[in-house]
Amino acid sequence: MGARIGVIGTGLVGAAAAYLLSSTPGVSEVVLVDMNAARAASEAADIGHAAAFGPAARVVEGGYGDLAGASVVVITAGASLQPGQTRLDLLKQNLGITDGILAQVVRVAPGAVLLFATNPVDAMPALAVRRHGVAPGRAIGTGCMLDSIRFRDRLAHILDVSPVAVHAYVYGEHGDSQVLCWSNAVVGGLPLLEFAAQRGRAIDAREQQAIAEDVRTAAYRIKAGKGVSNFGIGGCIERLVRAIVGDEKGVFSVSTFMPQLLGVRDTCVSLPHVIGAQGASQPFVPPLSAAETQALAGSAAILRDTIAGGLKTLAAA
Ligand code: NAD
Repeated sequence: MGARIGVIGTGLVGAAAAYLLSSTPGVSEVVLVDMNAARAASEAADIGHAAAFGPAARVVEGGYGDLAGASVVVITAGASLQPGQTRLDLLKQNLGITDGILAQVVRVAPGAVLLFATNPVDAMPALAVRRHGVAPGRAIGTGCMLDSIRFRDRLAHILDVSPVAVHAYVYGEHGDSQVLCWSNAVVGGLPLLEFAAQRGRAIDAREQQAIAEDVRTAAYRIKAGKGVSNFGIGGCIERLVRAIVGDEKGVFSVSTFMPQLLGVRDTCVSLPHVIGAQGASQPFVPPLSAAETQALAGSAAILRDTIAGGLKTLAAA
């Protein structure tokens, strides 16, 4: 018997994740929960029909009670970013939605690892820890995992290598203050910029800036063309669930609640974490250049203020 995975919020992100999860090794059941029960039922039927072509998981719609025994509960419910809005603008609305969802989930599935994609994604693990008593390692935001894969994909195209050969990370906020880390980016054991030079495709400072801007604004561009960004984040969710269900102990740049980082208290930003059956390890703080360290501390401070403001608003409501 494989793992039961809950997906709360079966809009475009939840459906993309559920579709991928239906064929994830080790997953035997995907339970879809949405305040729009008809939507959850329709997605369950549609994804279930695709899954029926192979040895895939059972995909069903359900209520919170059906999440009992779930190994992972993925939370993608909530409003999404509108043109001209930042992720932080979404804070108030989506904190309220997620707070209500957490009250139910923690009751029925206390042992589940919680995986958040709802934006602003870095505030959600803090909400789970601070208001619902979830252990920090069991409340994970997808954070900069998506930005990291966008960074790798872009570099892989430039260098004409496979994305899996590129080890490069984005840390900090999943948003405008994110930090692309060039100083520890590696290809084939070589510093990435050295590999690029030897490949005959040097990446100068101006191009580094252009790449950073491209990664930072990828979601805005995707949304301008199709109204939503859902498959990239669906892939991140599936990859993290696979790591948890298989107790892989893979290392990913995701966000968890941190009592202290670089002198900033009570924040939640992406850093490397080991991901396995128990959820996320403590964050690892990589050696960075002075500029990267400063940028990461700045990003952590932005999230600290966002989280404090959001929790205060919620407490007053
Ligand atoms: P969507 O509007 O298509 O779907 C949202 C779903 O949530 C709807 O089906 C809605 O009925 C449901 N919902 C709302 N309130 C609920 C509640 N209280 N209980 C249960 N279900 C509820 O939106 P989407 O495009 O799927 O995006 C979902 C979220 O994912 C947004 O917050 C978006 O910003 C975020 N997102 C995050 C990333 C990332 O990298 N973390 C990437 C893309 C999107």
